[in-house]
Amino acid sequence: MIRGTKLTNNKNISLRNKFIEIKDVDYIYIPLVTYKNKNVKCDLKVGDYLYKNQLIATSNDKYESKIFSSVSGTIKDIKPCLYIDNTMVNTVIIENDYLDKEKIKKGAKKNISKYTKEDILKLMKDNGVVGMSGNIFPTHYKYGMDLKINKLIVNAVEDEIYITSDFTNLNDKPSEILEAIDALMSAFNIEECYIALKSFNKVGIDDFINYMGTYPNIHIEEVPDKYPVGYERNLANYIYNAKIKKYPMEKSIMVNNISTIYEIYRVLKYEKPVCGRIVTISGNAVKNPTNVYIKYGTLLSDVLKEIGGLKYDDINIIINGPMMGTTVSSLDVMLTPKVTGVVIQKNVKDKKEYECINCGKCVNVCPVRLSPIQIKKYKNQKNILKKLNPNKCIGCGLCSYICPSNIKLRDDVLSACEVLNNED
Ligand code: SF4
Ligand code: SF4
Repeated sequence: MIRGTKLTNNKNISLRNKFIEIKDVDYIYIPLVTYKNKNVKCDLKVGDYLYKNQLIATSNDKYESKIFSSVSGTIKDIKPCLYIDNTMVNTVIIENDYLDKEKIKKGAKKNISKYTKEDILKLMKDNGVVGMSGNIFPTHYKYGMDLKINKLIVNAVEDEIYITSDFTNLNDKPSEILEAIDALMSAFNIEECYIALKSFNKVGIDDFINYMGTYPNIHIEEVPDKYPVGYERNLANYIYNAKIKKYPMEKSIMVNNISTIYEIYRVLKYEKPVCGRIVTISGNAVKNPTNVYIKYGTLLSDVLKEIGGLKYDDINIIINGPMMGTTVSSLDVMLTPKVTGVVIQKNVKDKKEYECINCGKCVNVCPVRLSPIQIKKYKNQKNILKKLNPNKCIGCGLCSYICPSNIKLRDDVLSACEVLNNED
């Protein structure tokens, strides 16, 4: 049985309006950030010309994550700008010349199912493929682990209650997604694949189901409408009753987000980096909530100009949704591969926090069986904290959501993790 809670979803808000491709903008902001590195060294300088898809920097760690330019143009500045976690990070600012000049032009590959495992790993690494569910974990590293992959779960659960970017890909790109799954299955000798989704994302995917007829080893699995069933360990446990301790790969199960699969498709098809993604723009402060395709490095403020702006001035901007996301202080935040959606709500005063009434709800609801209230209580006492395992927290936000005293437990648990991680 999956531990979790049924939440009311607000996904229809962003599906009322048609999907829009955001036009090119004058300035693109590329943060020097990768999976584990928030200050990647860049040897380029102001005045340098960049082609579209040109490598800007590579992280100096075991992941060797790459950062590319999403337009062609000239570097105007390299300076700290607002990142999606509300910190300032070093950023390459490119003045777009609107020419989309590429150094090497390649045609589209006719058949992507002929690649070997080594070809795919190289293409993923050279073109910077990362997890598109908001974690930007390097995909070449995940597939390159020295472990056999028997089963693939494609995660189209999309737990966050406002976000519909995976849903949009699922509806718009059925044949491309299935082709990429098939290519991965044949190159890595994967026996079967389940595409996991909740009932909401299952509605209207007739095209997808029609295309599936040609792929006998790819199946659809509807999972319970509980949050956070989309957490990869939960999915592997549910579909395969796998009793995962840490990662599904322990049991030879690979889990990829459906938008990651579409990114893999684009890299296998065009053999060049992917320079943009679908982002959901939603919330009660947005005049025309919708899904948009953005080039990486576009500012949220530029996106809003194109889709009609906001209804209110006093707003709360949440990157990646209210359950697991982060609040940022300005609309001039750059949109990166890590952004699945932005929810902008009319500001309401923070609900007053009350004393804990020891109801135990936060403990009962936690999908990884932590005691958030105990972690909060001992957050500055490292010896006790270690035994409470805050590092197991998946940041789902259910403890804060359920607390009748309005205590922001998730923030406390995440800051307790930082206390432990910053230990000497
Ligand atoms: S849910 Fe809130 S009130 Fe209940 S035990 Fe946890 S912290 Fe205390
Ligand atoms: S402690 Fe972490 S994993 Fe547990 S409910 Fe809170 S946010 Fe979710």
